[in-house]
Amino acid sequence: MDEPVLVIDFGTSTSSAVLVADGAARPLKEPGSGSYSWPSVVCRDGERLLVGVTAERRKRSDPAAYRAEFKRDLGQVAEIPLGDASYPVEHLVAAVLRVLRDRAEELHGAPVDRAVLTVPASYGDGDARRNLMVAAGERAGFAEVDLLPEPVAAALAPLPGAGFGAGDLVLVYDFGGGTFDAALVRFGPDGGHDVLGHRALDDCGGRDVDAVLIDHIRTAGGDGLAESLHDGGSRMVRLRFGLQLGDFARGVKHQLSEVDAVEDFVTAAAPPSHVARAELATLIAPLLARTIDCCHTLLRGCGVAPGNVAAVLLVGGTSRMPVVADTVGPAFDRLLRRPEDPDLAVAQGAAELELRLPPRRVEPEVGTDITAPRWTLPGGGGRLVRVLAGPGDDFAPGDVLAVARDVTGRLQRLLAPPFPGRVEAWTVAVGEPFASTDAPARVARTGSALRLLDPPRLRFRHDIFKEKVFDVKSVAFSADGRKLVFAHQLCSAWTYEAGTGYRLETNRWSAGDNLDDADVSPDGRWLATAAKDGFVYLWDTTINRPRKLRHGARVSSVHFSDDGRSLVSSGWSSTVRVWDVTTAGCSLQFDAAPSYVLVGVVRFGPGGRVIATGTRDATALWDTATGQQLVAIPHDAHVLGLAFAPDGRRLAASYDDGTVIVWDTATGAPVLTLGERQTGTMRDRVTGVAFSPDGCWVAAGHRGAVIWDAVTGERLGQAGGPDRVRAVAFSPDGLALACGGHQSLEVHEIAVPR
Ligand code: ADP
Ligand code: MG
Repeated sequence: MDEPVLVIDFGTSTSSAVLVADGAARPLKEPGSGSYSWPSVVCRDGERLLVGVTAERRKRSDPAAYRAEFKRDLGQVAEIPLGDASYPVEHLVAAVLRVLRDRAEELHGAPVDRAVLTVPASYGDGDARRNLMVAAGERAGFAEVDLLPEPVAAALAPLPGAGFGAGDLVLVYDFGGGTFDAALVRFGPDGGHDVLGHRALDDCGGRDVDAVLIDHIRTAGGDGLAESLHDGGSRMVRLRFGLQLGDFARGVKHQLSEVDAVEDFVTAAAPPSHVARAELATLIAPLLARTIDCCHTLLRGCGVAPGNVAAVLLVGGTSRMPVVADTVGPAFDRLLRRPEDPDLAVAQGAAELELRLPPRRVEPEVGTDITAPRWTLPGGGGRLVRVLAGPGDDFAPGDVLAVARDVTGRLQRLLAPPFPGRVEAWTVAVGEPFASTDAPARVARTGSALRLLDPPRLRFRHDIFKEKVFDVKSVAFSADGRKLVFAHQLCSAWTYEAGTGYRLETNRWSAGDNLDDADVSPDGRWLATAAKDGFVYLWDTTINRPRKLRHGARVSSVHFSDDGRSLVSSGWSSTVRVWDVTTAGCSLQFDAAPSYVLVGVVRFGPGGRVIATGTRDATALWDTATGQQLVAIPHDAHVLGLAFAPDGRRLAASYDDGTVIVWDTATGAPVLTLGERQTGTMRDRVTGVAFSPDGCWVAAGHRGAVIWDAVTGERLGQAGGPDRVRAVAFSPDGLALACGGHQSLEVHEIAVPR
C-alpha cells in the first residue's frame, strides 16, 4: 500500500488540507469551527504558537501577539514580531502545517510523512519561496515535501457536471483572501496539464474588499460609530477595535453572499450599520475591474483569444460573492464553472492528482558494477531527500529505495535494481547532492533475479537441409535488437527479424561447407562470415553482396567492434587481423600464438581497445593500437568461446573441459569458475558464452543453455532441452536469450520476477 499523503493548500487567509490514504481523499475539518477552512493565523502564547481558530480566539486578549496573512511576507529577511518575540516567516508557516499534520495523523492513526504543498504559480522554478515552502514542510515533520502549482490543482477540482477534456484551455480565476491569481491551464491527453501563463495582483483579495467595506461602514456610521469605537484609548485598545471592525466587516461581507441586505451592530452601543449587496458591488467594482484586466493581459500574453478559452473556473473564497460571477461572466462571454467547493478546490484538485497519477519513479542504471546503481533524474542530478531502505534492508525489484529532488524541485522515487538484494550503504547523506554519474548507494545481490520461460518465445526450425545434419555455429543480435543473425555449419548466414521470426535475408557463401562464425555489425548493416577458403566475407546486407577480405588460412572467428567501424578475424593460422569496415583494408595484424597453433576465437573488448584471443592452451589480451600482448592466461583446455563483461573488467572463457571461467582482465586472475570440470574423452564441452548487457549474468551453451549469476556463480536456470547448444547471445535489452545448436535456433524470453 502506498504511503499516505497530506495535500495542503496553505492560503494567505485560510488553508485547507486533504488526506489521501488507501485510495481515498478526506478533507480535514477544523476542530474548533467544524469547517474545512483553517485560518492561516498564529498567536503567540508564552513559548507556544497557537494556530487557526484557537489563535483567532486569542487575538482579542493579546492583539500584538497575533498575526494573519504572513504568506505575503514569505521571502522577506526580517522576522515577524509577535509580542516580544519574533519569528522567521517560514517558522510561522511550519506551525500551520504542523497542526494540519497532527490532525491528519490523528485521523489516519499512523504517521503521515509525505506532503504535497500547493504554491502560487508565481513561485516559479528557482524562486526562493519554493525552497522556503519545502523547508517549512520539513520543519513541520514531513520527510517528503512536493510542490504543485495552485492553478493546476484547482483545474482538477471536482466540478458539478462534466470535467474538462483533452485540449481544453481553462482560465483559472482565483480570487482569494490576500491575492488575485489568474492562470491559463491547458489539458493534454491522458490527464496531463500545463500552466501556459499566469499573472497575479498582490494587493487585490478578500482583505481589500474588507478594507473598502470597513471604510464604508465607518463613513456611514458617522460620529455615532466613531464615538462607540472612540479611538482615544491605548495602542492595545486601538488594535482591538481594528480587529473587531475587521471581523464585523467580514461577517457582513459573508452574509451578503447569501442575503440581499444586512443590518448589524459593530458594538452593542453602536448605531446600526446597513449594507446592501448592490452597495457592496458598487464599492468593489474597481477591484473587480482590475481582476478582469489582469486576465485579459494574461490571455494576450499567451496569444490566446478569449473565444478560445473553454471555460473560466471561479475559485477562491472571494469568488463566492455573487457579484464576481455577475461581472466575470459578461466580461469573457465564456462558460463559468465553479468547483463544488471553491475554498477546497485547490486541495481537492491536488488530492485528485495524487490519486490519479502515480509518483514519479526513476529506474536505476545497473551498468558495469551491479553493486553501484546510478539514477539519472530529469535534468541530471538531484539531492537525496529521504532514504526508505537503509543499510541492511532487503529490497525486491521495483521497491522504492529512496526519494530525491530533481533540479526543477520535483520529487522522484529511486527504484531498486532489477534483482533482489540488500542495501549495504548510502554514500550520499540526506540533503546532499549527487550527479547521475555518482552511485549514491552500494547494494549487494541476494537472490536470483531470473527465470527462463519455456516454451521459447520463438522457435526456429530449418527443414531445408533435411538430408544433412547441421549445427548452428554462432548467433548475434544487431544493437537495436531487431535482427538476429546466425551462421550454420553448412554454408549460410541467415538473418531473422528477432521479434517475429521472419526471415529477412540469406547470405550464402557459395564455396561449400563449414561456416564457423558470423557476426552482425551493431547497426545491422554489415554481416561478416568466417569461411573455409581463407576469406572473411563482409556482406553489405542492403545489396546482399560480399567483399572478400583475405585472411590467410581457414577463418574460424569474426567480431565487430561496438562502434561498428572495425572487424577482427582469426583462424587456422596464428595471425589475428583487424579490418577497417568502410575501406575493407587491414589496419593491424599480429601473431597471437606460435605458428602451429590456430586461434579459434577472437573478440573485441568494449570500446574496441583490447582484443581477446582463445587457443587450445591459452587466453590472451592484446592492445588494439599496437598489437602488443597485455595479459596471457595459460590453461590446459581448449578455449571455445569468449565474452567480455560490458565494463571490460571481466572476460568469460568457455572451455572444452566443461567449465566457464571468468577472468579479471587487469590481472589475469580467475574470479569465478562455473560448471564442473570433466576429464576423459566423453567430456561435455562448453561452447559459446555471453554476458548479459547489464553484466549480471553469464550464459553458456552446454546441454541446453545455462545461465549463471555473474557475481555469485549461482546457477540460475536452463533454457532449451537436452540438445547441445553451441552458441548463445543475449538480446540488447537483456530480456531474451538466443540459443543455437543442433538443428535448432531458439529464442527464450527471460522473465525477471517482480
Ligand atoms: P487564500 O487562498 O488567499 O487564503 P481563500 O480562497 O481561502 O483565500 O479565500 C479567503 C477569502 O475569501 C477571505 O477574504 C474570506 O473573507 C473570503 N470569503 C470566504 N467565504 C466568503 C463568502 N461566503 N463570501 C464572500 N467572501 C468569502
Ligand atoms: Mg488560495
